[in-house]
Amino acid sequence: MSQKLQAVRGMNDVLPSQIAVWQYLESQLINLLNSYAYQEIRFPIVESTQLFKRSIGEVTDIVEKEMYTFDDRNGDSLTLRPEGTAACIRAAIQHGLLPNLQQRLWYMGPMFRHERPQKGRYRQFYQLGVETLGMPGPDIDAELILLTARFWHTLGLSTHLELQLNSLGTPASREVYRKALVAYFEANQADLDEDSQRRLSSNPMRILDSKNPDMKALITQAPSLIDYLDESSKQHFDQLLALLDKAGIVYTVNPRLVRGLDYYTHTVFEWVTSELGAQGTVCAGGRFDGLVEQLGGRATPASGFAMGLERLVLLHQQVHGDYQAESIHAYLITVGDAAQLEGLAFAEKLRNEIPSLRLQTHCGGGSFKSQFKKADKSQATLALIMGDDEIANHQIGVKFLREDKAQQTLAWQALPEFLQHYFRF
Ligand code: ATP
Ligand code: MG
Repeated sequence: MSQKLQAVRGMNDVLPSQIAVWQYLESQLINLLNSYAYQEIRFPIVESTQLFKRSIGEVTDIVEKEMYTFDDRNGDSLTLRPEGTAACIRAAIQHGLLPNLQQRLWYMGPMFRHERPQKGRYRQFYQLGVETLGMPGPDIDAELILLTARFWHTLGLSTHLELQLNSLGTPASREVYRKALVAYFEANQADLDEDSQRRLSSNPMRILDSKNPDMKALITQAPSLIDYLDESSKQHFDQLLALLDKAGIVYTVNPRLVRGLDYYTHTVFEWVTSELGAQGTVCAGGRFDGLVEQLGGRATPASGFAMGLERLVLLHQQVHGDYQAESIHAYLITVGDAAQLEGLAFAEKLRNEIPSLRLQTHCGGGSFKSQFKKADKSQATLALIMGDDEIANHQIGVKFLREDKAQQTLAWQALPEFLQHYFRF
């Protein structure tokens, strides 16, 4: 017997029974983004490997060990996108979306990272990404945070997520900090784990992002970036905090917050929950003023975030329980040759008259009894019944599947009005 085919480890199917909450969350997100005048952009799932190396940074978890990279048939090195920012910026540069323009962009889709699969961490996962371009001030950073805060509010998740903020300053101020940090870790070299030893020379700030609990004490004692910010960085951060205070947003300044990618400057933020175990960051972002230039475009300030949709789904489930899909309104039962001939065309006419009607037409024949069973299982509110008698009299039977009410027989012409009235369309 041949071996059963399975999905790739860490890559999930979303089954019809699970899809309702995804569609709900996605549509809520799209409504929200529309209301803030953000525009969707779509770009490929595969990009040249170089793009990610140059943007995310050679000495990051993603580029060092998480990317799905392969040579295509031409021998070009390609990578399944591990995140969206780099590709979004690449597209914006390539299509001239940047010069003298401000952009507010979003995208939604799968990302790929070869991580150890566990709850909230997968090898294919979905992100909503938002990138704004051409706005240098803290106002747009604040707008991004307000937009996400509004989203949590809409979903009834506000009390389950905490906002953490930090500033990484400018590359110049970071250089000063970097020296202080290296001096500190060098003085404590014996306590560094293997990863951190390696990072000490290549990318010492990444040590702060270590997930190793044994490193925690050492990291807590390390010098704080916020003490090394230059005047302009401090001002940017203070103004951001003032904007958030004014809007009534509660936050925690976390001086250890660094992001797993190299391109961030100034503001970084995360929305964190304590309800998903170790994978508690649902949404993360910040400013990346240097990235456009780094990728060959004209220097353009930028700020954005990415939200992990699986973690959002998990949190929503945790807080609100299973999300109920809207059930169908009616299930059309057709018994006998005449009814089966009439049924599909009849349903089409009904759909013409009531576009918002969710109607399932029985296909595949069978007895009254078996069709009834299917109608009941479909969760439909009504069964519409067509048999030889109904066809002969141009009538239809209406059976109430969810309430104790006698079956009715209606003339065909009377059905649309009955449905409109019954369902308050
Ligand atoms: P983490 O610290 O959890 O590894 P990250 O810093 O690598 O996250 P980002 O690259 O900033 O994450 O991605 C933004 C968001 O995408 C994360 O906050 C998270 O919600 C989600 N995310 C990242 N990696 C995964 C993954 N492997 N599986 C599921 N969701 C993920
Ligand atoms: Mg990660």
